[in-house]
Amino acid sequence: MQVSSIQRRLLTESYRPKQLGYPYGALEPHIDAETMEIHYKQHYLKYVESLNHLLKGRKRQDLEDILVNIQRLPDAIRKDVNFNGGGVDNHNIFFKNIKPGGPERPPEKLYSLIRDKFGGLTKFKTAFRDLALEIQGSGWCWLAQKDGKIDLITTENQTSPRTRGWIPLLGCDLWEHAHYLQFKNDKKSYLESFFKCVNWDDVRNRLVD
Ligand code: MN
Repeated sequence: MQVSSIQRRLLTESYRPKQLGYPYGALEPHIDAETMEIHYKQHYLKYVESLNHLLKGRKRQDLEDILVNIQRLPDAIRKDVNFNGGGVDNHNIFFKNIKPGGPERPPEKLYSLIRDKFGGLTKFKTAFRDLALEIQGSGWCWLAQKDGKIDLITTENQTSPRTRGWIPLLGCDLWEHAHYLQFKNDKKSYLESFFKCVNWDDVRNRLVD
């Protein structure tokens, strides 16, 4: 994969982009290479760049901790860190919780939680899709965990579930940039494709036992 100038520049910053981990075209035919390349290089890297700019000169803290404790940030930067920091963390999760040829079902512990809460994997996918389709404007749909329980939530724009006390487990990007090139306004097909790529092992790894 060719390294762009923005990628090279970000290598020396406090908050560095994660590698995609697979080629842009690896999720085809479910999610096409052009969408993935633009999503990663134009959108994700821009959030990383903006976050570094916002936090320049401050003591480095883990991004997850910053988001969990977002209320502690000065008023002057809180809103922009919520957006760009959320943008970085959400995409770190998104690009990892999909992968080519991911396992068809979640590992046992997560599978049981999903079955108990939603009545099975198929019903879970339908509930996730229906909630995702309710999002107005730009946002995210999540399977998330709080107080040991799992549930479906949405967040607007780039707000991270962590800022509301939720641990994000599985996240789907419902911004138009995530699907418009390939699916236009057919978000239902995008969500079906998304579920063909879910990396359930990665989702399980975020679950706190
Ligand atoms: Mn995105």
